Parts: sequence; C-alpha cells; structure tokens
Amino acid sequence: MKITEHIKNANGKTLFSFELLPPIKGQSIQWIYDAIDPLLEFNPPFIDVTSLREDYIYKEQDNGLLQKVAYRKRPGTIAICAAIIHKYKIDAVPHLICGGFTKEETENALIDLQFLGIDNVLALRGDARAADNSFIPTKGGHCYATDLIAHIKNHNDGKFLHEDVETFKSDFCIGVAGYPEKHFEAPNLNADFKFLKKKVDMGAEFIVTQMFFDNQKYFDFVKKCRENDINVPIIPGLKPISTLTQLNVLPKIFHIDLPDDLVDDLSQAKSNAEAKEIGTAAMIKQCNELIEFGAPVLHFYTMGKPAQTKEIARAIF
Ligand code: FAD
Repeated sequence: MKITEHIKNANGKTLFSFELLPPIKGQSIQWIYDAIDPLLEFNPPFIDVTSLREDYIYKEQDNGLLQKVAYRKRPGTIAICAAIIHKYKIDAVPHLICGGFTKEETENALIDLQFLGIDNVLALRGDARAADNSFIPTKGGHCYATDLIAHIKNHNDGKFLHEDVETFKSDFCIGVAGYPEKHFEAPNLNADFKFLKKKVDMGAEFIVTQMFFDNQKYFDFVKKCRENDINVPIIPGLKPISTLTQLNVLPKIFHIDLPDDLVDDLSQAKSNAEAKEIGTAAMIKQCNELIEFGAPVLHFYTMGKPAQTKEIARAIF
C-alpha cells in the first residue's frame, strides 16, 4: 500500500515507522530480522531500507601496484525489502539513490521493485563517497533527486529508456528528503526550498525530513511548506542520541544544530549510558510534542539498533 494511503487510513493518528541500513557485506539477513522483531509491537505500516553508494578500496595487484576498486560495503537494499514483505507482510520502502547507479541500473531496479509488488520508493541524490570531497555523479547516472523523480515518473507512465513503444505501467508512490535546517550545500534555506518544491511539483507524494532536535525547526518547515503550496505529508525523521560523541559527530555529519538545553544536559553526562538516558528522555519529549502537533508518522533512524527506539516507542504509543 502507498505511504499516502497508510497516512490517510490512520485518520490523524500518528503512526510509527523506522529505517534500517543493509548489513555489512558478509552478515546474514538475520541481522535485519533482529533489528525489526523488537519493534513489531508498534505496528509499523512501513519500514525504510537505505541504499549506500559504493566507495573505493585499494587492492594490491600481482605487480605490487595498488588498484582502486569500487566496492559496495552494504549491498542488498532491494532483496532486504523483498524479505521484509515476504516475512512480515509490512510495506518496505527502498531508498533509490543517483550516486553509484547508471540510468539503466536504476531502470532495472524499478522493474525488480514492480515485480516484487513494492509500492513506494524514496528518491534521493545520495551522499558523497567518503573518498570524494563532494558528490560526484556516476557516468550515465542521475545528478539530482529531481532527475531521478523524472525517471520514476516516466517509468510509471510506461516509458522505458531505450524503448520507443510504451510498455507496462507502474504506480510508485515517490517520497523525497526535506531539510528543516537546509541541505548543507544549498546557499540558503530559500534556495533549498525551491528545489524541494520542484521535487513535489514533479510528483513526490511525501517528504521525510533529515533528523532535527529542535521541534520548532520542523514546525517552521511545515509552515513554510504549506505557505508555498507544498501540501504532501511531511514525516519527521528522528534519531535519539545514544553516545557522548554524538554531541559533536551528529552536527558535523548531518549539518544540524542541537538545542542549548540538550547540549547543556549532554555536557554533564559522564558516560555513554548517561548520554543515552538523556537522549532517550529528550526524544520522548520531542515525540510527544510532535504527536500533539499532528505529525503523520514518527520515523526513527535506528541504524539497525532497535533497543533505544523500542524504549521511546513504549513511552509514547
Ligand atoms: P537533492 O534534492 O538532489 O539536493 C541536493 C542539493 O542540490 C541540495 O543542496 C539542493 O538544494 C540542490 N538541488 C536539488 N535539485 C537541484 C537541481 N535540480 N539543480 C541544482 N541544484 C539542486 N543518502 C544515501 O546515500 N542513502 C540513503 O539511503 C539516504 N537516505 C536518506 C533519507 C532521508 C530521509 C534523508 C533526509 C537523507 C538521506 N540520505 C541518504 C542523504 C542524502 O542522500 C543526502 O543528504 C544528499 O546530500 C542529498 O540528497 P537529496 O535527495 O536531498 O538531494
């Protein structure tokens, strides 16, 4: 079922969902099941599975020289989605990214997804490789999420890349990323907003936000969206703090601000256990406010570790 239908059927009740990343190459699918099982009691109508671009590794050749090889550390996004649907009968939402895929590979992925009965996709540009300073598009691939949306919309209309005739049609419900604190490459919030609007005008039917810790940022973002005629559901993405180092790491990696009171509290913490306790309490408060506001879904970035999300969900649902 489409995410938009799940939200409509909930009649204003806030739903619970979460996001997983594929296991590191070599781990079994059990890693995924162990990350899902503890959260089933909260009836997630959908589970997202991220897609991570290939990075480089260096392999020594017979002549002793090092060769740069593209290496995908966490493959399996589509297969994991299929496994989730098969085992749990819960909708799985694969993230489709531009980086690391040619247009033909994207088309093949869309064909696989339709054959598997997957109704939703999250269309993203994708992160830069760790080995690169900034995002470098793949040769023959898409550059921006907008290009990917155009591709999926064409695919929905039965238009394939190298076929002149119309073939079978699809009906993917497309989600996109939104940044209450702006995407770090955009010169300002308005410039970023222009592209968010473009993504929705092109056919995106829901937005999932980057994590944020100050609800006012989300409230302002939703207001600005509505004022600009962006009327699709805006799903807040949430990441509870679980370690001391996240105080510095999360702002650096995700280009977000932590509110003063949370920084003050975390600065007093003497161990990861204390930081986690503070992070959990702060997230419960944040979630209760978001429910009060009428957020359609609370979407947790679990990174495959369900325990803290479970504690939070037990306190709020
Ligand atoms: P875009 O919407 O393409 O925007 C990228 C930048 O370019 C922005 O600064 C924007 O303002 C600008 N821009 C947009 N369109 C245009 C245009 N047409 N012309 C010129 N400039 C433009 N990353 C992964 O690698 N894998 C994942 O699974 C993943 N999941 C995510 C899930 C969520 C909910 C979120 C919020 C992020 C996720 N990311 C993921 C991270 C995301 O890929 C990065 O933040 C990436 O840098 C931007 O992706 P985007 O889809 O927002 O890009």
